[in-house]
Amino acid sequence: MPHIEQLASHVADLIAAGEVVERPASVVKELVENAIDAGSSAVVVEIQRGGMGLIRVTDNGCGIAPGELPTAFLRHATSKLRTADDLAKIGTLGFRGEALAAISAVSRVDILTRQKGAGCGASLHLEGGVPGQVEEAGAPEGTTIAVRDLFYNTPARLKFMRKDSAETAAVAGLMQHLALSHPDISFKFIKDGAESLHTPGDGKLESAVYAALGRDFARGLVRVEGRGGDIAVSGFVTAPLMGRGSRSMQVFFVNGRFIKSQLLTAALEEGYRNQMMKGKFPGCVLNVTLPVTAVDVNVHPAKTQVKFAREREVFDAVYHTVLDCLDAKGAPVAAPKNAGQVVNPRQDFFQSMDAKTFREQGAKPAEKPVEKPPVRPAAPARPVWDTEWKSAARVADSQPQKPLGFRPLEKPAALGKAPVSVTERREAVPVRETPVKAEAPAVKEVPVKQEAPKRPFVPAIPAEQQKLDLPGQTTIEPPKEAPWRIAGEVLHTYIVCESEDGCVWLIDKHAAHERINFDRLKAAKEPVMRQTLLQPVAAELSREDGALLLENLELLEQFGFACEDFGDGAVLVREVPADIDAGDTVSTLEELAENLRSGKSLEEKRENLLHTMACKAAIKGGWTSDVSELKVLVEKVQSGEVKYCPHGRPVAVKLTKYELEKMFKRA
Ligand code: ADP
Ligand code: MG
Repeated sequence: MPHIEQLASHVADLIAAGEVVERPASVVKELVENAIDAGSSAVVVEIQRGGMGLIRVTDNGCGIAPGELPTAFLRHATSKLRTADDLAKIGTLGFRGEALAAISAVSRVDILTRQKGAGCGASLHLEGGVPGQVEEAGAPEGTTIAVRDLFYNTPARLKFMRKDSAETAAVAGLMQHLALSHPDISFKFIKDGAESLHTPGDGKLESAVYAALGRDFARGLVRVEGRGGDIAVSGFVTAPLMGRGSRSMQVFFVNGRFIKSQLLTAALEEGYRNQMMKGKFPGCVLNVTLPVTAVDVNVHPAKTQVKFAREREVFDAVYHTVLDCLDAKGAPVAAPKNAGQVVNPRQDFFQSMDAKTFREQGAKPAEKPVEKPPVRPAAPARPVWDTEWKSAARVADSQPQKPLGFRPLEKPAALGKAPVSVTERREAVPVRETPVKAEAPAVKEVPVKQEAPKRPFVPAIPAEQQKLDLPGQTTIEPPKEAPWRIAGEVLHTYIVCESEDGCVWLIDKHAAHERINFDRLKAAKEPVMRQTLLQPVAAELSREDGALLLENLELLEQFGFACEDFGDGAVLVREVPADIDAGDTVSTLEELAENLRSGKSLEEKRENLLHTMACKAAIKGGWTSDVSELKVLVEKVQSGEVKYCPHGRPVAVKLTKYELEKMFKRA
């Protein structure tokens, strides 16, 4: 064993830098947070080559005294924290005193700064963390930091960097979050010379939402506001009918800090229980404000996770704010229940669940299965809870909430041109003249009728109409000698059949169809049949989703999507698979992005995509189906070809005559 020695400081710094500076977006985050902490009202961020070439952040904040410039770049040097006690009440975004040291250790840095009211500014150049001389310099009030050649001295790290486009998207996503968390600050983001985000900094969250997330998203939002004890919740959530295909548009801030939190996601989604279609997710921009002593931000180096001291109260606050505000809007809601029922009783939500478990279990917490809430009584029962509760929506019951129709922003004089949403550019999209594709038509086994249910139930079908020509099959289970008699359909979901041997079969039509689609897609014998959209759709997605899809264009192509980059995270879609509803294009893309994110290998991604596409193309429970459609499904189930849905759930259940007789006490 070699002997033990303390590492040289420059080596230790490089190791520490790895924790804080993972990629360009982490540099931008730290620099912008410093600008915010410095009290700036305008911040400009410029990047080149995804930030690998240049990251420059300019602010108009308090500036740094020339004498303190080199100190700012030392490890554990901060102006935001003095004593250990201060750690329990952190009110600034930064506090570790590590960022500037870490960034300068792995790049070439130039800083130019002038304190408010000072006659002259100062500049300093650092290379791999080694500072040059502080020089007097003319400078505007505030600070400009330019970071060049990131990771130039850590080749191992450089190797792991993704494509520039992915890094650009990560920075763009971050800029959205920063802009949303500080509507009072004007943010400008310029990538490779082109401005891509510009918020007015007028203090209105709706202006920031409009500029950062686009007009379409902003339009479908409901304002929410509520308070439970010392926890305040405010912001916007998606109207129940505007559910999205993934959780990527859920943006949470705790005391102004963007965070990812399963607890908050669960609380939000619980507020929509029974109001949002299965498989759809609400989007939101929600601020949770609570005393700084009630939240620990010091649990993660990148500070994107927090630990709440009183998890249940935070859950309550978000859940009831959302529920009450949607309720006030007049949407039908289930009776609210005590949040104690849905929060993990150990109150360690944060520790006890990783993202994968969470995804698999949906919004439900780990331990306690939540029973289905009862149908809402005429006079809705108010929740029983221990926190004192006052929701703005309840106070203002007389003012019904409306989805917001944000007006486009006025051109802010000092800030250049007003932000333009992708939607506004939509009209300008040239409709490409696509020659009709001469593709072998994929056999579409079941024509899907996509309309709201009209008939209360499908009447029993006379047996003579049910003569099915069964092809000769070898693996038969249950017996296929004679076709099952279709007795009808119940709940617009289950097909009721009778087999020759006197058994009753219930078939889940969606599950059965999903399986058929899955097998067909998996076999991939024919190219996917596509439809060219009359008007290309510009899908406004989160930056991460947009970038992910654009990185996987080829894979999407194989699944029948013709997409291209439309700038700013938007994806222009010209063709979609023939068997999905064109109106579902955006939510399908969001789901596909989620699939791509969760798949580790290409194979896994492909498998995930298969699942989504099979589900999307399937008849839905609740739709009215044609008898001919049902027949095909029954035939496949009877032949034993279809037994389980792609998720492993059974597609049919059997009731024997004996079982029925027992129920009726005949046997
Ligand atoms: P932290 O933000 O955790 O204190 P940093 O390494 O990010 O640590 O910054 C060190 C110090 O440098 C800060 O505490 C602050 O005093 C000063 N500083 C950094 N950036 C700026 C800025 N843009 N404007 C004014 N002061 C700054
Ligand atoms: Mg900092």
